[in-house]
Amino acid sequence: MSINRSNAALYQSEGLKLLYGNSLLGIIIGFIASGILTFTFITNVHFAAKMTWWLMLSAVLFLRLIDTLFWFRTPDSAKNHTRWQLRFSLGCLFTAALWSAYGVLFFPSFSLAEFTTVVVILSALAGGATSTLSGNLTIAILYNLTILAPFSLTMLAQPETWQSNLGILGMCSTAAMIVGAIRSTRYTREVILLRDKNKMLVSNMEDTIRKRTQQIYEISHIDSLTGLYNRAAFLSAAEDICSQYREKHIDGFCIFFIDLDGFKNINDTLGHDIGDRVLHTLSARLYEFYRPGSQVCRWGGDEFIFLLVNGDKYAAQQLGDEIVRSLSRPIIVDGQKVTLSATIGISVCPEHDTSLTRLIQLADIAMYSQKGKYPERVAFYNMELESNLLRKIALNEALKTALANDELRLMYQPIVNPQGRIVSFEALLRWHYQGSDISPAEFIPLMEQSGRIVEIGKWAMEEACRTLLEIQKRRPGVAMCVNISMIQFYDKEFVSNVTQLLSTWQIDGSSLHLEVTESIFNAELQVIYQKISALQQQGVRFSVDDFGTGYSSLSVIQNINVDYIKIDRSFINNLDSKGLAIVEAVMNISQGLKFYVVAEGVETAKQRQKLIKCGVHFMQGYYFSRPLEYAGTLALLETDSLDVAAQ
Ligand code: C2E
Ligand code: CA
Ligand code: CA
Repeated sequence: MSINRSNAALYQSEGLKLLYGNSLLGIIIGFIASGILTFTFITNVHFAAKMTWWLMLSAVLFLRLIDTLFWFRTPDSAKNHTRWQLRFSLGCLFTAALWSAYGVLFFPSFSLAEFTTVVVILSALAGGATSTLSGNLTIAILYNLTILAPFSLTMLAQPETWQSNLGILGMCSTAAMIVGAIRSTRYTREVILLRDKNKMLVSNMEDTIRKRTQQIYEISHIDSLTGLYNRAAFLSAAEDICSQYREKHIDGFCIFFIDLDGFKNINDTLGHDIGDRVLHTLSARLYEFYRPGSQVCRWGGDEFIFLLVNGDKYAAQQLGDEIVRSLSRPIIVDGQKVTLSATIGISVCPEHDTSLTRLIQLADIAMYSQKGKYPERVAFYNMELESNLLRKIALNEALKTALANDELRLMYQPIVNPQGRIVSFEALLRWHYQGSDISPAEFIPLMEQSGRIVEIGKWAMEEACRTLLEIQKRRPGVAMCVNISMIQFYDKEFVSNVTQLLSTWQIDGSSLHLEVTESIFNAELQVIYQKISALQQQGVRFSVDDFGTGYSSLSVIQNINVDYIKIDRSFINNLDSKGLAIVEAVMNISQGLKFYVVAEGVETAKQRQKLIKCGVHFMQGYYFSRPLEYAGTLALLETDSLDVAAQ
């Protein structure tokens, strides 16, 4: 119903447009035809009447002309269609009535020529109207009836047969014209509705295209998980900010490279679903820092980038701290409390660079090196960080081939008893690379990070065992201490490798001492305890290295049978103050827990003296010997005591 009503309204308004659109031509033709008719057949008879008729028609046509011009000048929105339709109908039907009046009133005085002309003009007007008035059915019918019917009826009433026959013909053509008008109106109506439908279709299509374009934009610019900008979108927005800097519209900007701490753990232990929700929550928290002009995006995985426009270093530090604080707040997912944090690296434009890619790289470097030291903090980029990182990358690359290139070797440092007699050697790894020795403090962590320590550690243990055999040929009972990284313990084959090594070289388990750091006891991993005790059952001894520097307490050490505790060099260095108390405390406990104590880093006779006084079981340090090459190690065995003071 409502559709029909709106169709009717549409036809009314569009039909009116059509009527007024055709009106001008009708007015001109009407004016010309009336002039020709009047002035061709004007005689003294009816002179005044015909002139009056012509003036009346001209006046009506003139009024219609004004009305038409008004129509075109009035904006569509201000048009009252019913009123305009009434005005048009009146003008049009009044014109028709005047034409009809001419035919009826002046009929008695028509010559054959005038009669023919009138018939032709009226027929032409009626014929033309079927199409020009097709914008409104009622007007079209009334116009035709008004123009043709009275004249036809007048003829019909004539006594002459040809005239009454012409009258019948006139009535027939009136009917035909009306049928024609109905058809043409219907056709026009359909065209109008169809055109409107097409317009609707096109606008719907445009709407669909707009929606699709929006969807495509979102897919290509928005990260679906977090709703933040993705990498591509960020880069293009950030490039604009770079151009603003180059054009001096802004003073500069800071790039924050944000990396979540501990996210991998969440994914691994609680599953990807929870991981996704955690990311979603943290992204929302990050977005709270968004301000107009800044940018924030998910760079990938658990990395985000925040761009701060015009911020100085102080403001950047403040913002970075706030972001870390916000991301460190606990999250509740599925009733579980999850706490993560973030490490942020910041680079500043123009201080550090002006290229966007480079600034992102620098912020990444700052983040990465901060994470390696103290995560959950904010760090600014500086040149040193980058050269450190480049060196790390280069060394890491070189480590891949270090073993194959024969760049690795072991040195051995003796461990002695209070009399200075060698009881064991500690195998210490050396890397000679491009003409210089790289410190183990530098390359061991790199090997641990890359996991290469598993392969190299295995090689070192074999190498140490081979040396041990040579040592034992000269001094049976001397043991070999090998440093073992936590990573090596995770290796499935660790225990079987050691077992195999002992049996291949026919080494007594008690001659092999494995040095592990305190952190191993923090892990509280049952697997690691099991591996340690499996090896202890074969006689292998365990030493806790660098004792006192880690986080473990002596109570943890109770859980496992430790054979040796090596007190870290920093305490031995400090025997005059705190160090002595530590040594004494460890010595006390050693009696209860039954482990031996080794003092590391003994450099002076005074230190040696104090340590012996404390009852330390063994000592190691430059005072006795520096780490030695293979040949030097074997040669050292010729010496009975390394302790000058004891000799
Ligand atoms: P660490 O296990 O504590 O090894 C003892 C370190 O102290 C050695 O340094 C040694 O040269 C040094 N040292 C010995 N006596 C003295 C002294 O009197 N004064 C001073 N100032 N230093 C002394 P190095 O060889 O540089 O080794 C550093 C660390 O690298 C080792 O510390 C150990 O944690 C690690 N490392 C060395 N070789 C290996 C290995 O084969 N495997 C593993 N996993 N780590 C190793
Ligand atoms: Ca050690
Ligand atoms: Ca040590």
